[in-house]
Amino acid sequence: DDAHVAGGKRVLLAKPRGYCAGVDRAVITVEKALEIHGAPVYVRKEIVHNRHVVDTLRERGVIFVDETSEVPEGGLVVFSAHGVSPAVRTEAEERNLRTIDATCPLVTKVHKEVNRFARDDYDIMLIGHEGHEEVEGTSGEAPEHVQLVDTEEDVEKVQIRDPSKVVWLSQTTLSVDETMERVDQLRERFPEISDPPSDDICYATSNRQVAVKAMAAECDLVLVVGSRNSSNSQRLVEVALQAGARDSHLIDYASEVDEAWLDGVETVGVTSGASVPDVLVMELLEWLSERGWLDVQEVTTANEKISFALPRELRSDSGTTR
Ligand code: SF4
Repeated sequence: DDAHVAGGKRVLLAKPRGYCAGVDRAVITVEKALEIHGAPVYVRKEIVHNRHVVDTLRERGVIFVDETSEVPEGGLVVFSAHGVSPAVRTEAEERNLRTIDATCPLVTKVHKEVNRFARDDYDIMLIGHEGHEEVEGTSGEAPEHVQLVDTEEDVEKVQIRDPSKVVWLSQTTLSVDETMERVDQLRERFPEISDPPSDDICYATSNRQVAVKAMAAECDLVLVVGSRNSSNSQRLVEVALQAGARDSHLIDYASEVDEAWLDGVETVGVTSGASVPDVLVMELLEWLSERGWLDVQEVTTANEKISFALPRELRSDSGTTR
């Protein structure tokens, strides 16, 4: 049959891929909130940046809003994994909303760093993508101390007061290599700039990049399952191309694969962003197998064992022990 004729066809499947501990926790948080409190549960912004996850939760009674002002007085609102600024918390309090905070602990860690350096009156260069929710939340901790550095031009634009009191911090879901480039550029301008106390780019983001890098050069095509607005998923496409993949695309669903991408392709790399349930990857593998890509080899570069406890609000509401 077809499969035997096409002997060169194989799939390299990256591991780790898909759900990180912060996304897993955020999704379970919303599911538990639904279970305990019943619908509707409001979620400010997308709980995680994945279309499938958001659509599924919406069907179960979650109402996604852009701002807490859209939640009726006394309503229950979950803050998404990307975190919120103190202004958002205050507004929710003023409107008597019940809140559950699903901010990833690794995002909270960066918030704390911002606070600490702001307290010490540093100028904080926050490397991140303009308009991303995480960056809005993080810089909202100390807007008067934080300047966003997205592009190389931004490095030239930022203004500091004291060259000995500058620090760089970053969004959790950036390209590791690109971030280090930006840091080098900043350091050229501000030789005394301090590094963050620990890595801000999270373990999940960097592990997924390492895994895709390990296989990219062998791939004619790398398919990344993930949504357009998912920063870490988009980075995987870029990293794959930089590491030698001939072609790479971001797709939400297997049905979005353009058959033309497969012309002349033997090795297909597959990975997925940190907000992507593995069922979507399995559907893609199924789709590929129907077209002759039956040989799937996993390329493992790390074994992740991290998990986070659920938000405190849920632990006490549900009556379980803490
Ligand atoms: Fe947390 Fe990293 Fe996952 Fe974002 S990608 S939710 S920072 S573990």
